[in-house]
Amino acid sequence: MAFDFDLFVIGGGSGGVRAARIAASQYGARVALAEESRMGGTCVIRGCVPKKLMVFASSFPAAVAEAQEYGWDAQIGAFDWPAFRARLDQELTRLEGAYRGGLERAGVTIHDCRASVAGPHEVRLADGRIVSAKHILIATGGWPVVPEKWQGHGAMTSNEVFEMEQLPGSILIVGGGYIATEFACIFNGLGVKTTQFYRGAQILRGFDDEARGHIADQMCENGVDLHLGTDVLDITRDDSGYHVTSTTGRNGRYDAILFATGRRPNSAGLGLEALGLTLKPNGAIPVDDYSQTAIPSIFAVGDVTDRANLTPVAIREGHAFADTIFGGKATTFDHSLIPTAVFTQPEFGTVGQSEEEARAAGPVHVYATAFRPMRTAFIGHPERVLMKLIVCARSNKVLGCHIVADQAGEMIQLAAVAIAMGATKADFDRTLAVHPTMAEELVTMRTATRSHDG
Ligand code: FAD
Ligand code: NDP
Repeated sequence: MAFDFDLFVIGGGSGGVRAARIAASQYGARVALAEESRMGGTCVIRGCVPKKLMVFASSFPAAVAEAQEYGWDAQIGAFDWPAFRARLDQELTRLEGAYRGGLERAGVTIHDCRASVAGPHEVRLADGRIVSAKHILIATGGWPVVPEKWQGHGAMTSNEVFEMEQLPGSILIVGGGYIATEFACIFNGLGVKTTQFYRGAQILRGFDDEARGHIADQMCENGVDLHLGTDVLDITRDDSGYHVTSTTGRNGRYDAILFATGRRPNSAGLGLEALGLTLKPNGAIPVDDYSQTAIPSIFAVGDVTDRANLTPVAIREGHAFADTIFGGKATTFDHSLIPTAVFTQPEFGTVGQSEEEARAAGPVHVYATAFRPMRTAFIGHPERVLMKLIVCARSNKVLGCHIVADQAGEMIQLAAVAIAMGATKADFDRTLAVHPTMAEELVTMRTATRSHDG
């Protein structure tokens, strides 16, 4: 049977764009892609990129305060949110154009509309047209979830944050994951009175406990009003803002509320269930190591599969799919060692096992140090940095590295190379320090802080 295309990609985000571009430009496949919103997807339009630019914007007041302590006659003045937003919009439009241009140059046919699956080899476009393809790749990402009880109360999600008309004077952020914690630091840095409610005992569940505690301490020190073991009980709204009662009996008034209570895979209405595909309870599309679904011609990558919801993961999954199907090289992406950064202030860079995971699996030595870094200790600032290595007591291999420090994301990228290569503690020890840096502590910790028998 002759198909209109070799590949039809639904979704023009990190995973879909990479797969489409590689299949078309590197392997000569005839590719079409449908995107219902703006090309680039979550990362470019409403995720990593605008978030990181807001992180940069929010870092200046502290930098100017430091500059004063260093002897500069520096004043920060007011933050012009509309001016920043206009520039942000320009930048996102530029990036959107770059993504579209890359696809066009690769010869990909772009449909600027919603698409769904009409059959194992058929895609239905929003106008009802049916397009056939030998392979279909679903890369439709995810969408923020507000608990049902609080829907329609006027609260923002991370989608609306980048479109605010003005910066609020005060904000309540609900959640304790990546997005809640990053935005708590961003708003606090921008001078917004920031309160964060997290229902659990400590933010950033799943990461190394010591690192989580360290970040929470530093956030509070920097001015975030963090409430653990706390959730929203009631929200009312009047001209003066939102009035919120917490489950702990606290009453507060806020100009804005941000729910950062997780994301759900974007699989609703795609037509997959009608083809007999059973989705996971949260809507994630089940796939095998090659991102193939139970329908052999249909594949899925990125957040819609809910494996690890990070841009570089979606990109690698999309690339591996294109190499496997169109490049003739069976390729899987190994999800077992994923470096990541949480762009809090201070930043958190982490790779490999937490102390808790590692000690549950076997005997480990833990090397950890918390100290005041030179730059801020000089001006009497209480900020502390955490550097931590988890080492297998049997093989001496470094199983995990956790850093809470300014620029930890940059540092962890390089530590991840060593750990991915199987570096041992002895390899770290024989590596010469770079002085004076914070990261030199990673190669100068000689004595284990504690050991666990496993
Ligand atoms: P997406 O990028 O979400 O792309 C899916 C695309 O499909 C969207 O453009 C959507 O419009 C389109 N679409 C959906 N349904 C249809 C349909 N039926 N027809 C046509 N088009 C459709 N990750 C990091 O690694 N680092 C970070 O710092 C980071 N920060 C983040 C900050 C925020 C606020 C958020 C929300 C996420 C962040 N992430 C970060 C996660 C990262 O953005 C995602 O993991 C990544 O974008 C997933 O890529 P994807 O290709 O799976 O989906
Ligand atoms: P997360 O899953 O990381 O966090 C969701 C948070 O909301 C958790 O603290 C969770 O609590 C809480 N929560 C869930 N449901 C409720 C509820 N009904 N009431 C109160 N609290 C609730 O999701 P995010 O939205 O923060 O981020 C989504 C994903 O996007 C991340 O997991 C990450 O993969 C990616 N991302 C990556 C970034 C980066 O790389 N720097 C930055 C931002 C996002 P509990 O822990 O108790 O379940």
